[in-house]
Amino acid sequence: MAEELEELWKKLSFTEEEDESIVLGSSTTEAAKAIGKNCLVMKVLSTKSITIEALRKNLRMVWKPSKSVQINEVEDELYLVEFGDGRDKKRILEMCPWTYEKSLILLKEFEGEQVPKDISLWQSPFWVQIHNLPLKSRTRETGRVIGTSLGEVMDVDVSESGVNWGKYLRVRVMMDVTKKLVRGKRIVIEGGEQRWITFKYERLPNFCYKCGLLNHGVKDCKEENGSGANMEHNNLQYGAWMRGEVPRKGGGDFTRFGLEDERFSKGGPVRNSVGGQMPLKETPDERREVGNVPESTTPVTEL
Ligand SMILES: [Zn+2]
Repeated sequence: MAEELEELWKKLSFTEEEDESIVLGSSTTEAAKAIGKNCLVMKVLSTKSITIEALRKNLRMVWKPSKSVQINEVEDELYLVEFGDGRDKKRILEMCPWTYEKSLILLKEFEGEQVPKDISLWQSPFWVQIHNLPLKSRTRETGRVIGTSLGEVMDVDVSESGVNWGKYLRVRVMMDVTKKLVRGKRIVIEGGEQRWITFKYERLPNFCYKCGLLNHGVKDCKEENGSGANMEHNNLQYGAWMRGEVPRKGGGDFTRFGLEDERFSKGGPVRNSVGGQMPLKETPDERREVGNVPESTTPVTEL
């Protein structure tokens, strides 16, 4: 279409009036730029269709903005969110990820230069818990190195001294949400010791327990070789055990999200170990659920 237009333009000879360019100076975009400061672009990572009225109603309820929030569809299933108060925008961004009907909401700063159809949203920040690290490795530096393997590291939850003596290390990572969730990795610690570390993600939306992608649930999975036996619960490669409980730091929001997460992960097979290190004594059921990490290398907690 664009090429056809270009061909057509070449053939046409313009009148003097047509040949005059219209210069759009800064004043023409001022108003949008000013409002844009309080705007975010948004997409819901879901294969299901979305009703904007329901989305508006839900987000106003969940976000509880101190002033207004306007949500407009600027392209198919791409939304512009305008906050009446910039502080609301900041807070909403900091508290990512959000979900709508259990699907992940992607949010990004508004950049007025782009045509909406060219805006692509494919990243979201997550707090990732790194479990099974030896105590000596629970440092900011370890968090950065391991976190970088998952995406762009935004923060490592350590005290001023640079270490964290909690049950696990937390890293905030800007992740590519078009990729499969990473369940764990093998690390080599100084001295050559190898071990498996497992990742748990806080406030995970619904995701596919079969293929690990975030944009659909297991029922809508299109991964090949997926029918029959593989669909059975015990053979699923991913599961609720990847959900990390949000630490309750006393803030009202944390408590609220903790509850939300609890509802999502209801019945999760490794529920007992969520928020802590791998249980010392796993029940046979739990062990099977952790089975995505090869059994022989299933991390043994020796701490
Ligand atoms: Zn899938």
